[in-house]
Amino acid sequence: MSKKTKDKNWNYSPAPESSSSATIEKRYNLFINGKWVKPSNGKYFKTINPANESVLSEVAEANEKDVDIAVKAARKAYDKTWSKISAKERAKYIYRIARMIQERAREFAVIESMDGGKPIRESRDVDVPLAANHFFYYAGWADKLEYAFPMRKPKAYGVAGQIIPWNFPLLMAAWKIAPALATGNTVVLKPAETTPLTALKLAEIIQEAELPDGVVNIITGAGKTGAAIVNHPDIDKIAFTGSTNVGKIIQQAIAGTNKKATLELGGKAANIIFEDAPIDQAVEGIINGIYFNQGHVCCAGSRLFVQESVYDEVIRKLKWRMKSLIVGDPMDKNTDIGAINSSEQLKTIEKYIAIGKKDGNQIFQSECFLPKKGFWCKPTLFENVAQSDRIAQEEIFGPVLAVQTFRTVDEVIAKANNTPFGLSAGVWTDKGSKIFNVTSKMKAGVVWANTYNKFDPTSPFGGFKESGYGREGGLHGLSAYLKFD
Ligand code: ADP
Repeated sequence: MSKKTKDKNWNYSPAPESSSSATIEKRYNLFINGKWVKPSNGKYFKTINPANESVLSEVAEANEKDVDIAVKAARKAYDKTWSKISAKERAKYIYRIARMIQERAREFAVIESMDGGKPIRESRDVDVPLAANHFFYYAGWADKLEYAFPMRKPKAYGVAGQIIPWNFPLLMAAWKIAPALATGNTVVLKPAETTPLTALKLAEIIQEAELPDGVVNIITGAGKTGAAIVNHPDIDKIAFTGSTNVGKIIQQAIAGTNKKATLELGGKAANIIFEDAPIDQAVEGIINGIYFNQGHVCCAGSRLFVQESVYDEVIRKLKWRMKSLIVGDPMDKNTDIGAINSSEQLKTIEKYIAIGKKDGNQIFQSECFLPKKGFWCKPTLFENVAQSDRIAQEEIFGPVLAVQTFRTVDEVIAKANNTPFGLSAGVWTDKGSKIFNVTSKMKAGVVWANTYNKFDPTSPFGGFKESGYGREGGLHGLSAYLKFD
């Protein structure tokens, strides 16, 4: 054995992706009616790189007046062009957007990692290709709606108001815009205030693709701007992905109106490891479920249930694997865990880690080196967690895993369903019959079996209970933008 292999502290050499392929303007205006327009109040806010706190750009803050201009542009585009051109023509534009995302994939991945903090490996291999795939998939449906819904005469709603979070900025924009355009709706979309840049890059593509003016409008701002979209009287449909709290505010705001909504909200997914599971793969699935992506996914496998007979083995292997996770520069191709998206989010995660400790849970954190600047959190695991503990009940949105044990199938189903959320879950076992039994009893929109966090444009995604309602992806995602006679 060479000296290097014997030395447990050997490191990978840095392999940073160059940021030279990315053009980020110093200032971005609002993309309304096919043009870049200044915000009416003249206000801009900064978007920073969470890995080093440097300012990347400043971005317009849209107020109610700007929202009104954007909605009017979307309405005009719907009435005058988008609802009039053939479905085949609509499809051509959507295909064009898909291809242009592919052509500029590297630039999108770099900007996504710089603005959001996620590792370049994730943005390059997951976010950007999936975003392009969503546009391809829904472009294919645009002229086949009558086959998708035979005898039901599908019709577009009109103008969709779309509000997205910071965890998958480009991908969420694709999830929202692609089915809306394919079904003949026009769009006013607002990205999250901490990650607006890839949505603004998408606006550049939409302009280059020569989409008719006003079909897609992308405006930036924080919660107030989002609320102005929700409350605008001429919006027909709201598509929202974000926190359960804001989801509840939106439901109250649209109660008694004619507005339709799909809400994809928080989660607290159970990842269940049975004793007959392939343990090594399951351990990798746990790591993928909670630590890759900094736990910044609403479907993160944040509650781990391990059958008692394999508990010691799973936890030993999991801790060993956690020690090898590389936390640091999101632009480095070796990085597993990037920066936490914002200082506010880091404070929330730290608050929950303190609560977990105070509740007497046993904590394990890998001993990784954290950079001085930026927002970072070590991969964290809590053992002996009780069902009632806050870290087992509330969404943390960070790399923090709450571990519990179980003995029987019925017990774990009861425990896993004992949450206000119901977005996703994972099951690891060698037995197909057990998979069918457990998945049919889990109150979760998506249940992965012997894998985790796998997405495909053809599969619907969405929640039960406080995780929201409506589905995105697949045929279900199309029907969410259509009314039927
Ligand atoms: P997260 O915890 O994921 O940041 P939020 O629900 O706070 O989730 O934010 C998700 C999106 O909702 C962001 O684009 C944010 O600006 C927007 N938003 C926040 N408050 C409101 C509101 N009251 N009405 C509409 N949108 C809002």
